[in-house]
Amino acid sequence: MRNGLLCRCPRCGKGDLFVGFLRQVENCSNCGERLGHLNVGLLLPFAVIMMVGHVIIFVMLDMELNERASPLIYLAVLVPLSVVVPLAIIRPVKGGLIGVLWARKVSNELER
Ligand SMILES: [Zn+2]
Repeated sequence: MRNGLLCRCPRCGKGDLFVGFLRQVENCSNCGERLGHLNVGLLLPFAVIMMVGHVIIFVMLDMELNERASPLIYLAVLVPLSVVVPLAIIRPVKGGLIGVLWARKVSNELER
């Protein structure tokens, strides 16, 4: 999972896990480990939304309870928070989830 969070191959920790922003490699370029069949599916958006959602709820509560809430402050704080943070954490989160699937030897490959 730690190697996955660093966007590295969960087996060797050296090869890259992704070829694009979120597209994972079929095989590790360093050790050849098969990684393309590990599919995190809808767990990825669920995990990201749960993490970011909790942060946003606490920020909103804090602003409301301390009477700092105004539409402009909402716009200035919450819009970047709800766009930039998910984009920043989605790669390591996917890497970590792939690491967990790899470690648990989960395969949800479809029969063809
Ligand atoms: Zn590897």
